[in-house]
Amino acid sequence: MSVCAIVPAAGRGERAGLDKLWADVGGRPLIALTLERVAAAGSIQSIVVVCPEERHDEVREIALHLGIADLTCVPGGVRRRDSVANGLRAVGAPEIVVVHDAARPLVSPALIEAVIAAARRHGAATAGIPCIDTIKRVDNGVVVETLSRQSLISVQTPQAFAAQLLLRAHAADGEDASDDCILVERLGEPVAVVPGEIGNRKITHAEDIEWLRRHLQWAPAP
Ligand code: C5P
Repeated sequence: MSVCAIVPAAGRGERAGLDKLWADVGGRPLIALTLERVAAAGSIQSIVVVCPEERHDEVREIALHLGIADLTCVPGGVRRRDSVANGLRAVGAPEIVVVHDAARPLVSPALIEAVIAAARRHGAATAGIPCIDTIKRVDNGVVVETLSRQSLISVQTPQAFAAQLLLRAHAADGEDASDDCILVERLGEPVAVVPGEIGNRKITHAEDIEWLRRHLQWAPAP
């Protein structure tokens, strides 16, 4: 079964206060780490990177360096779901589509394979880890509800889908969605959860980049 990966990398990095996906970590841009991990998942035959056009040459060069033969770049959209939709238009006709955020560079190839396997069985699958924090709903600075932690997970990417299901989910509505599973859920279709990885952290804030550099035991030259 053919598998294509979409890597959304067109966020503006506002929370990090810098272009985090292109920050130097370990002597190369952060996105190179992500692409290396995605390409190492043996089931993936092609990769579509969604990123600003001025980055396309850089990404193609990274792919060349990593020996990734089948990589396409497409421009991003206003919202994450628009970026993924742009990617979907470039995937060809795979049976399975994996979506993995460029901002999660430490994903293991084994986790990517696990969500692909789950999507083959269930149609849609996401990685997720148990919620360690107590989550409360807040209105105007006041707690209005505490959610039961037992039933909550922190959802990660990778997420994988039968391609036809993901296409149908994207076509079904235009409402915003912070991940692709939400669109499948709105169709009333099941989404399987596979155990994610604590190390598969989303690099969001400037502190996360510092953490990543420490994790890689690397510091930029002073
Ligand atoms: O904003 P968030 O943290 O959910 O972004 C997750 C991933 O989606 C990031 O890799 C980001 O670059 C990407 N993204 C995108 N297009 C957007 C917004 C986010 O490709 N318009």
